[in-house]
Amino acid sequence: MALLNGSSAPQFALDADVIVVGAGMVGAACASALLQAGFRTLLIENNPPPAFDLGDEPGLRVSAVSRASERFLANIGAWQTVATTRAAPYNRMAVWEHDSGPETVFDAAEIAESTLGHIVENALIQHACLGAYERADGALLCPAGVTAMSRQDGVTTLSLDDGRTVSTRLVIAADGARSTMRALAGIDAPAHHYAQRALVATVATACTQQDVTWQRFKPSGPEALLPLVGPRASLVWYHSPERVAELESLSDTDLIAAFHDHFPDRLGRIEAIIGRGSFPLVRAHATDYVQPGLALIGDAAHSVHPLAGQGVNLGFMDAAALVDVLVDARAARRDIGHVRVLRRFQRWRRGENALMSEALHGIQQGFGSDSPLVTAARGAVLSAGQKVGVARRAMCRHAMGLSGDLPRLARADSVL
Ligand SMILES: Cc1cc2nc3c(=O)[nH]c(=O)nc-3n(C[C@H](O)[C@H](O)[C@H](O)COP(=O)(O)OP(=O)(O)OC[C@H]3O[C@@H](n4cnc5c(N)ncnc54)[C@H](O)[C@@H]3O)c2cc1C
Repeated sequence: MALLNGSSAPQFALDADVIVVGAGMVGAACASALLQAGFRTLLIENNPPPAFDLGDEPGLRVSAVSRASERFLANIGAWQTVATTRAAPYNRMAVWEHDSGPETVFDAAEIAESTLGHIVENALIQHACLGAYERADGALLCPAGVTAMSRQDGVTTLSLDDGRTVSTRLVIAADGARSTMRALAGIDAPAHHYAQRALVATVATACTQQDVTWQRFKPSGPEALLPLVGPRASLVWYHSPERVAELESLSDTDLIAAFHDHFPDRLGRIEAIIGRGSFPLVRAHATDYVQPGLALIGDAAHSVHPLAGQGVNLGFMDAAALVDVLVDARAARRDIGHVRVLRRFQRWRRGENALMSEALHGIQQGFGSDSPLVTAARGAVLSAGQKVGVARRAMCRHAMGLSGDLPRLARADSVL
């Protein structure tokens, strides 16, 4: 990879077709896809990505990667690295309410798929996407942060914190939930802060994990155990910020005891805590995804409640859809930075993301209520999911990201 970290940056990198700001999972995947589609691409990241070492224990941050995202990552040459390094496939998702309610099991076999998805460390996904970008000889400016943005005559110029400027026709902001680019563009993203935090722990388990994710919904918040490779798992416990602070103050031994007291026995024994941390939960949605010469993707455009593991999957579909739109615009000899071109991307993705965000918010609110009416309604939904094969299969395909209007790079028969 051409790592441009000095003032000797070659001229070609300062005149890219597209500049992607943010080399997290979504930005790195998007830059890689654009480069492979033939766009001269420059990627800017302000934090050097951590090295990924297979000898290390699994990282704390993991994601449930849907089948649609897997296809996208495979089509840009990143999934091969993930699959051969450390990814835990899951073929079943078990979901139940409280301790006794009906249990719904979603099974890949029912819809003739080999898996429902994989649990993968975020750092590995980022490493694999950057690897694909590097193999295509992509240019990365790192560490470099954007401090100002201006646009004139169809060209956007970014000022960097080291004094340099770079210009392009189109900037793609993939700089996360607290996006500087979104702020520089003056785009609002109204936010709802949940009265909940997520306590996440990577744990060593007595038994090797099976190919199943477990999720239980309680009024205090969802709880999940996600399989990692070997006798390792990721445990997620959503609760009030006060309760999470109490749990975080416990020693590892006491925290393991709290897990054993609280989580069902069938999830197995926890032997040790490898890593732990907690995260605030915010739902936000940018009022606009585009402006002349600018498009927002990933968490820069939307943050959703993580209870169904959809956030980065939505971001990957944003990236794949935007690449489709830009490839089509180029074929039609249109300016890729023109707002009319970019509005097609906004029409495609903003509605889908809003629907998913609403659905997740509804689940969070619905399962967080003890009202008898709401309890009856969610019991009916879970029983329908368990008893009605057609409903279960539809839910399953949705969770895998295989329903809706899929971008070309997320289809099985991808041709750009
Ligand atoms: C507890 C929890 C569990 C989750 N589980 C799942 C899951 O199972 N499945 C799922 O799909 N999603 C999950 N998510 C959501 C997922 O983590 C996010 O959607 C995802 O990380 C967003 O990726 P991103 O690349 O858009 O943004 P980020 O990961 O935030 O990356 C942004 C990048 O931009 C860089 N950057 C920032 N500002 C600048 C700047 N000014 N200049 C240059 N670079 C900049 C940052 O350094 C960073 O590298 C979960 C979230 C939480 C909190």
